[in-house]
Amino acid sequence: KKIGIHSTSFKDFLLKSELNRAISQLGFEHPSEVQQEALPQALLGSDIICQAKSGMGKTAVFALSILQQLEISPVENDYKGPQVIVISHTRELAHQNTHQFQRFSMFLPEIRTMEIIGGMPMRGQHKELVEKRPHIVVATPGRLYQFVREKKINLNDVEFFVVDECDCILKEFTMRRDVQKIFLSTPYDKQVMMFTATLPKSTRKVCKKFMNNPIEILVDDETKLTLHGLSQHYVKLEEKQKTQKLMDLLDALEFNQVIIFVATINRAEALNELLNKVNFPSMAIHSRLPQKERIERYQKFKNFNARILVSTDVFGRGIDIERVNIVINYDMAIDSDTYLHRVGRAGRFSTKGLIITFCSSQTDSKTINQVQEVFEVGITELPKSIDVSSY
Ligand code: ADP
Ligand code: MG
Repeated sequence: KKIGIHSTSFKDFLLKSELNRAISQLGFEHPSEVQQEALPQALLGSDIICQAKSGMGKTAVFALSILQQLEISPVENDYKGPQVIVISHTRELAHQNTHQFQRFSMFLPEIRTMEIIGGMPMRGQHKELVEKRPHIVVATPGRLYQFVREKKINLNDVEFFVVDECDCILKEFTMRRDVQKIFLSTPYDKQVMMFTATLPKSTRKVCKKFMNNPIEILVDDETKLTLHGLSQHYVKLEEKQKTQKLMDLLDALEFNQVIIFVATINRAEALNELLNKVNFPSMAIHSRLPQKERIERYQKFKNFNARILVSTDVFGRGIDIERVNIVINYDMAIDSDTYLHRVGRAGRFSTKGLIITFCSSQTDSKTINQVQEVFEVGITELPKSIDVSSY
């Protein structure tokens, strides 16, 4: 079932032919509901706050509207610094957003995109920045602010400022402070766009401080984020039964790719080792890995060279892996928003998915109930057999 896809065409947005060609090359046929609503506003240069369910294609809203409007000087010596800043809260999401910009600009070879993320040596990035002279910089907040503080980047030419997963960035004190500092070193006159799947009132207020009369595009009411297309179940068990149950499930279920979420880095490592011992070839991803390794593993999973991923919440948000059809909460998420972001990894762009949550404590039960209330979804006990066509 396709949700919110109108019968309009990308042609209606009157984009440059280079962008239209990229869009067809990427296999996009119709704009999704959020693209439908937000693109016309974004293309006019308005500040926007855009909230829409995860997986509905928010990236294309900022990538296309910016690539359409961006005018780069043909005179190389005019270059002072980037014209576009995209802030992403994790390194993987920054990497993915960089890739998206590169894909949408495949027929605009003169536009240069670069990522600036933590965990990599700063000197190498600085060298690349000086040599590459990127028009678009996709960055994590901490590292970009370091560049700004050390005056290693000039933001005087910034015309577009995007904050992806803005509620997450603005909720966390350090990231919020870094983004504020970066923001203050850009010119006043620019287009600001913020994107999120969940937008609590408090965050909405903070967002607005960065913008001029923003247009709010709320494709789903938060309470109506019904996570259509996902079958959601729980299994009641004791902590010590979790591993056996997981193996039974991995044996029984037909999955393309599965992500298993756990509560801590140590648990991710331990579970991953255990799975490998019993011949489930899995990979672990978490924030203690060196950055290079993290990206490599992410790529490997994305390229379908591994089918089982054990992850902490570092991977929970924004990451887009098409083939994931099952998410297992080996450890339940700490709250309903975290649950939403985790399970949004399955069923990308209106495909189906199966979510199984292990429930081993009263806190787990409470959070499961909270999810059902907040998002108006049913999470039922895992049946003895599940119809393969349902996920
Ligand atoms: P969001 O940021 O809203 O969570 P993404 O921008 O990551 O979603 O998009 C999710 C997936 O949907 C991506 O793989 C993207 O390429 C794909 N996608 C986006 N828009 C379209 C479209 N109009 N038609 C087909 N696929 C699309
Ligand atoms: Mg996104």
